[in-house]
Amino acid sequence: MAKAFLGLGSNLGDKRANLEEALKKLKNHPRIEILKVSSFYETEPVGFIEQDWFLNIAVKIDTSLTPLELLEFCQSIERDLLRKREIRWGPRTIDLDILLYENFTSQSEKLTIPHPRMKERAFVLVPLEEIEPDLVLDGLKISQILAKLNGEKVKKVE
Ligand code: ATP
Ligand code: MG
Ligand code: MG
Repeated sequence: MAKAFLGLGSNLGDKRANLEEALKKLKNHPRIEILKVSSFYETEPVGFIEQDWFLNIAVKIDTSLTPLELLEFCQSIERDLLRKREIRWGPRTIDLDILLYENFTSQSEKLTIPHPRMKERAFVLVPLEEIEPDLVLDGLKISQILAKLNGEKVKKVE
């Protein structure tokens, strides 16, 4: 079994329902055990600022899936939610990214682990820190990385 961290985000439709649905699909997979789920965070969009704000969570899992199998399962969840989306909303309602998978590293375009942009993203790091406060990335604690970001707004949903 391997511990892995996932970053989930939604900014279209019923964001909370989309995240809950993705969580349910993760939970129902026979080879995935959910260990921790962060609070929900409302986060400012980065890049294309004319889109709606996001709802983000981080999830810690234990899994016997390989990194590639996990990626494929995450993409199947995106496709499942996309199908509903195509009928009702148009663009993407859910994003599931693999942030970390044990000490595994991969540099391919199809699968880059650790996630190449996670250290620049407060919307990833803040929920991640909540569920794994002692995590160290390249020798730095998450709080130290966050202190160096002039980060987008990330607000915990109480
Ligand atoms: P970003 O990666 O910057 O968060 P995104 O999540 O919006 O952007 P997607 O459209 O979800 O990007 O994914 C694009 C491609 O990224 C996918 O086809 C997938 O194969 C690849 N990818 C590479 N590394 C990862 C990873 N660690 N987790 C999820 N997808 C990954
Ligand atoms: Mg992403
Ligand atoms: Mg993605």
